[in-house]
Amino acid sequence: MSKKIVVFGEVRDGELRNVSFEAVAAAKLVSEGGEIVAAVFGDGSLEKAAQELIYYGADRVVTVQNETLKTYTSEGYAQAALAVIEDEDPEGIVMGHTAAGKDLTPKLASKLDSGLISDVTSIEVAGGNVVFTRPIYSGKAFEKKIVTDGLIFATVRPNNIAPLERDESRTGEITAKEVEIKDIRTVIKEVLRKSTEGVDLSEAKVVIAGGRGVKSKEGFEPLQELADALGGAVGASRGACDADYCDYSLQIGQTGKVVTPDLYIACGISGAIQHLAGMSNSKVIVAINKDPEANIFNVADYGIVGDLFDVVPKLTEEIKKLKV
Ligand code: FAD
Repeated sequence: MSKKIVVFGEVRDGELRNVSFEAVAAAKLVSEGGEIVAAVFGDGSLEKAAQELIYYGADRVVTVQNETLKTYTSEGYAQAALAVIEDEDPEGIVMGHTAAGKDLTPKLASKLDSGLISDVTSIEVAGGNVVFTRPIYSGKAFEKKIVTDGLIFATVRPNNIAPLERDESRTGEITAKEVEIKDIRTVIKEVLRKSTEGVDLSEAKVVIAGGRGVKSKEGFEPLQELADALGGAVGASRGACDADYCDYSLQIGQTGKVVTPDLYIACGISGAIQHLAGMSNSKVIVAINKDPEANIFNVADYGIVGDLFDVVPKLTEEIKKLKV
């Protein structure tokens, strides 16, 4: 049965995050041929973001522009989101499983008296049901969920559902909605971003992660060079963060970021269970470690037993040659 689905896009520094397009593709699957209404919030012009959402598959876009929506607050965004939901009365809602998505969606679900299927990694239609797959027990198992009654509400993990092809011939209505946003008790004074420059770690297609084996801050330099050559981002184990070789914003794992890139290269990481929780669903895993018994080799598709300071520069050199 076709359904109307609302998708919340995410704008950061005027640009839509890639996961917004993935959420539109997810919504298409959930809608089973129904209407996709995207919504974006911010304080500046949202016209360009709205247009992009249409190119990527949204049928209509609602923008809410308000100075209180310049940066994310759960109070402000929840009011804007609830106003859109009230207008549209959708059968489903989809958003990225990002920091904002993880904060906003439980609040909305509770206000709407709805369930929430979070951190979805794939969606399929089987036996007349929309079936959501999500990891459980820190990624060691997957469960499948269907919604039998009421609102279908899901967040999708970045990098798991491919966006639809961008099509500039697509057209759709863009409506600016006025929402009175009040009683915001949170004051954002400054936003400090510590992620790697350029590619966002949680959305990167390639992640080069360093562990205690990199031995120093400078030890991360060859990893950054490899990441640059592959257009990827640098991440780290908690071991490397605890040793102060890098910032905690790079930490991947149970208590860090969860990533699912196409390629994950673990350099000098032993493969503790808490680290695997953040990366074991990567599509291809390469491990570089001096110790042939290191646990990381148990999850790796390709293992290189060797010194990362020999292997990583050689890899970078070869990749650069391929690009010439
Ligand atoms: P180590 O275990 O010390 O491994 C270093 C590896 O580098 C070794 O395998 C060694 O053989 C190799 N090596 C050394 N020199 C070289 C070289 N020159 N070339 C190649 N290889 C080399 N960890 C996380 O990563 N993320 C988390 O989110 C996380 N959350 C946690 C939550 C809790 C509650 C707890 C208790 C722990 C958590 N940990 C987490 C910590 C985790 O248990 C490990 O201690 C940590 O992942 C180890 O980091 P590491 O692999 O870099 O270091």
